Amino acid sequence: MESDPSVFEQTLTLELSALQPELRVLIVDDDPEARDYLVAVVQDAGYQTVVASSGEQALQLLEEEFCPIMITDRNMPGMDGVTLCKRAREGQYPGYLYIFLLTAQNANADIVSGLKAGADDYLGKSNISTPELVARLGNARRIVGLEQALRRALDQKRQMANTDVLTGAYSRRYLERQLSLELERTRRFNHPLSVLLLDIDYFKRINDRYGHAIGDEVLRNTYRRLRELLPRACDWIGRYGGEEFLIVLIDTDLRGAEIVAQRMVSGMAEAPIETSVTPIPVTISVGGAEAAQILTNDLSFKRLLEIADQCLYASKHGGRNRYTMRLHGESPLSLGSIASSAHGAARQ
Ligand code: GH3
Ligand code: MG
Ligand code: MG
Repeated sequence: MESDPSVFEQTLTLELSALQPELRVLIVDDDPEARDYLVAVVQDAGYQTVVASSGEQALQLLEEEFCPIMITDRNMPGMDGVTLCKRAREGQYPGYLYIFLLTAQNANADIVSGLKAGADDYLGKSNISTPELVARLGNARRIVGLEQALRRALDQKRQMANTDVLTGAYSRRYLERQLSLELERTRRFNHPLSVLLLDIDYFKRINDRYGHAIGDEVLRNTYRRLRELLPRACDWIGRYGGEEFLIVLIDTDLRGAEIVAQRMVSGMAEAPIETSVTPIPVTISVGGAEAAQILTNDLSFKRLLEIADQCLYASKHGGRNRYTMRLHGESPLSLGSIASSAHGAARQ
């Protein structure tokens, strides 16, 4: 799924025009008088202030309640401003930290070492005028605002790429990436993990009979029903293809997965899917596979889904409205040797 680039640009423009009105500025100085002066100027300019009297305290504050702008004195007992800049640049914060270094010595070497340590700008302590400080803060605000807007737009874009537009389910892309990560964990810690591949039976007939728009409604409402049938927060479901869904069951072996598959098949067959024209009976076929069935060095999401797909095929072949799993404890699967245990929902 590709998102519209104009949405990205619109979001950016919107976010920029609504720059955070009350940015917090962290003021770090061991001298209370200098601190009070800065607090007054910065607050007058419309910012909130947080104060720290040492570099150590500043680092702790940034961890606990991040401020996007920091004004720090250079000469302080303990951790000095230059070290604070370096340490702050190593921190993992929720956004960009714009740093001003206040320096009493306006010597060129001091400025260069401050900028090299990670400061964005410097302020001469003895000769800075209030209007200049306010103007420079405005620049900081612009940079911070731009970075925040970009970050939000990227988050939104990521979210869009992770979501299937029609159903609101996770997208195939997201499922494959997350499943790969989960398999990595499974391999490392030996946790069980199973997948179920679900496919709506005779979906083409629904489209042919009621039209594509109603077909879409059926897809959306089928997804809703399936999600209701999957109450555990750690399990996930997404749309894998046209009328195919994938369920990933964390910490679940094939026996557990079989229980879920049974619940899905019977939960669908139990009552028709509501649509704006008429309720439509919908059944599904399911194929299930467990990571433990695959030799570790061959374990990939592709391989796992290949097995699930073979089981799904067996369910279709066996008459649909049923699930097929590989039985637990059997030797790893070699292609073409599916041991299927098909259960029609009607049998339950
Ligand atoms: P089977 O029981 O073997 O799965 O039969 P089927 O008809 O479900 O399978 P087939 O693969 O022949 O057809 C799948 C249909 O799903 C055909 C396609 O038009 C429809 N489809 C795929 N994506 C969408 C969608 O987003 N919306 C709608 N309305 N239909 C879709
Ligand atoms: Mg189908
Ligand atoms: Mg299909």
